[in-house]
Amino acid sequence: MNSPVKRGDKKLTRREMVFGGLRCAALTAIGAGGAAAGLKRRKLLREGKCLNQGVCPQCNVFSECGLPRARAVRAQRGEG
Ligand code: SF4
Repeated sequence: MNSPVKRGDKKLTRREMVFGGLRCAALTAIGAGGAAAGLKRRKLLREGKCLNQGVCPQCNVFSECGLPRARAVRAQRGEG
Protein backbone atom coordinates (compact mmCIF):
# COMPACT_ATOMS: atom_id res chain seq x y z
CA MET A 1 0.00 0.00 0.00
CA ASN A 2 2.75 2.51 0.90
CA SER A 3 5.24 1.18 -1.56
CA PRO A 4 7.26 3.80 -3.45
CA VAL A 5 6.24 4.60 -7.01
CA LYS A 6 8.64 3.42 -9.67
CA ARG A 7 9.93 5.72 -12.40
CA GLY A 8 12.08 3.64 -14.69
CA ASP A 9 14.44 1.69 -12.48
CA LYS A 10 14.35 4.29 -9.70
CA LYS A 11 11.81 4.17 -6.90
CA LEU A 12 10.36 7.56 -5.93
CA THR A 13 9.59 8.34 -2.34
CA ARG A 14 6.60 10.41 -1.36
CA ARG A 15 8.88 13.37 -0.67
CA GLU A 16 10.42 13.18 -4.14
CA MET A 17 6.97 12.99 -5.70
CA VAL A 18 5.76 16.03 -3.73
CA PHE A 19 8.84 18.08 -4.57
CA GLY A 20 8.64 17.00 -8.19
CA GLY A 21 5.03 18.15 -8.33
CA LEU A 22 5.89 21.46 -6.68
CA ARG A 23 8.75 21.95 -9.13
CA CYS A 24 6.41 21.35 -12.05
CA ALA A 25 3.83 23.74 -10.60
CA ALA A 26 6.49 26.44 -10.09
CA LEU A 27 7.80 26.07 -13.64
CA THR A 28 4.25 26.23 -15.00
CA ALA A 29 3.54 29.40 -12.98
CA ILE A 30 6.76 31.05 -14.20
CA GLY A 31 5.96 30.14 -17.81
CA ALA A 32 2.41 31.42 -17.51
CA GLY A 33 3.65 34.67 -15.95
CA GLY A 34 6.14 35.20 -18.75
CA ALA A 35 3.53 34.51 -21.39
CA ALA A 36 1.08 36.89 -19.72
CA ALA A 37 3.71 39.63 -19.57
CA GLY A 38 4.52 39.14 -23.25
CA LEU A 39 0.87 39.25 -24.23
CA LYS A 40 0.29 42.39 -22.16
CA ARG A 41 3.27 44.08 -23.81
CA ARG A 42 2.02 43.21 -27.29
CA LYS A 43 -1.48 44.41 -26.41
CA LEU A 44 -0.21 47.75 -25.11
CA LEU A 45 1.92 48.33 -28.22
CA ARG A 46 -1.00 47.39 -30.47
CA GLU A 47 -3.18 49.93 -28.65
CA GLY A 48 -0.51 52.60 -29.10
CA LYS A 49 0.36 52.83 -25.42
CA CYS A 50 3.87 53.33 -24.17
CA LEU A 51 5.50 50.51 -22.20
CA ASN A 52 8.23 52.47 -20.49
CA GLN A 53 6.78 55.85 -19.48
CA GLY A 54 8.34 57.54 -22.51
CA VAL A 55 11.97 56.77 -21.67
CA CYS A 56 12.75 55.60 -25.18
CA PRO A 57 16.56 55.23 -25.20
CA GLN A 58 16.38 52.74 -22.31
CA CYS A 59 13.37 50.87 -23.62
CA ASN A 60 13.71 47.26 -24.74
CA VAL A 61 11.53 47.73 -27.82
CA PHE A 62 12.97 51.07 -28.93
CA SER A 63 14.37 49.82 -32.24
CA GLU A 64 11.03 48.40 -33.38
CA CYS A 65 8.58 50.73 -31.61
CA GLY A 66 6.21 52.62 -33.90
CA LEU A 67 4.89 55.14 -31.38
CA PRO A 68 5.35 58.83 -32.22
CA ARG A 69 7.77 59.48 -29.38
CA ALA A 70 10.08 56.64 -30.40
CA ARG A 71 9.99 57.73 -34.05
CA ALA A 72 10.82 61.31 -33.01
CA VAL A 73 13.78 60.15 -30.92
CA ARG A 74 15.06 57.96 -33.77
CA ALA A 75 14.68 60.85 -36.22
CA GLN A 76 16.48 63.18 -33.83
CA ARG A 77 19.35 60.70 -33.62
CA GLY A 78 19.36 60.27 -37.37
CA GLU A 79 18.51 56.59 -37.13
CA GLY A 80 15.66 56.84 -39.57
S1 SF4 B 1 10.27 52.98 -27.35
FE1 SF4 B 1 9.59 54.81 -26.29
S2 SF4 B 1 7.47 55.16 -26.97
FE2 SF4 B 1 8.03 53.06 -27.49
S3 SF4 B 1 7.28 51.87 -25.77
FE3 SF4 B 1 9.44 52.32 -25.37
S4 SF4 B 1 9.42 54.19 -24.17
FE4 SF4 B 1 7.38 53.97 -25.08
